[in-house]
Amino acid sequence: MINDDKKNENHKKRQQKLKEKVDERIAAATEDKGLLLVITGNGKGKSTSGFGMITRSVGHGLQAGIVQFIKGTWECGEMNLLKQHGVKHHVMKTGFTWETQNKEADTAAAQVAWAEAKKMLVDTSIDIILLDELTYMVTYGYIDLEDVISALKNRPAMQHVVITGRACHRQIIELADTVSEVQSIKHAFDNGIRVQKGVDW
Ligand code: ATP
Ligand code: MG
Repeated sequence: MINDDKKNENHKKRQQKLKEKVDERIAAATEDKGLLLVITGNGKGKSTSGFGMITRSVGHGLQAGIVQFIKGTWECGEMNLLKQHGVKHHVMKTGFTWETQNKEADTAAAQVAWAEAKKMLVDTSIDIILLDELTYMVTYGYIDLEDVISALKNRPAMQHVVITGRACHRQIIELADTVSEVQSIKHAFDNGIRVQKGVDW
């Protein structure tokens, strides 16, 4: 019993110290800034996270824009919802897939999508932009890295941008304020389970 009291007291002291440290850090973080966020890695959850931030923003009455650089085979559940809330949206007009055969057509479609993204990146009325799967466009050389970097650097100071996709280029990661790598521990697909509505699209 005495031992338990002692343990409780020690736990309380440790928690108190931790709280003081966290409070100090919260008090020190006073700056506001348009953030560049990158969600990369091989695990599931990158686009979901991007769409989640857009949904949060819309919930606060912020103006949001989305450019999807890979047109999925399935309709996008989030988009069905967000379109009803005035979110500006462009989806790349090609059946770009992993087995893509037509480099010219894909490059042209990627550049049209990138031009739409650039319009958003100079629009001060847009508070947050999701550039979903942008990383692949840079990897495949469909859009120019320097152009991407320059558009990101010159965007309105308070505008947030979220970039998703695997294997994000090092220079974009360096420019970003917040970078998360989603690691795959396991995925249902590996056990022969196909994509599920609501979970995957
Ligand atoms: P989500 O859109 O579910 O957040 P994501 O954006 O992290 O996924 P992408 O690489 O864009 O992942 O792939 C999208 C699709 O591929 C989704 O249907 C997702 O469930 C599936 N997927 C994601 N990660 C994996 C994985 N490690 N193995 C197999 N399938 C995956
Ligand atoms: Mg994705």
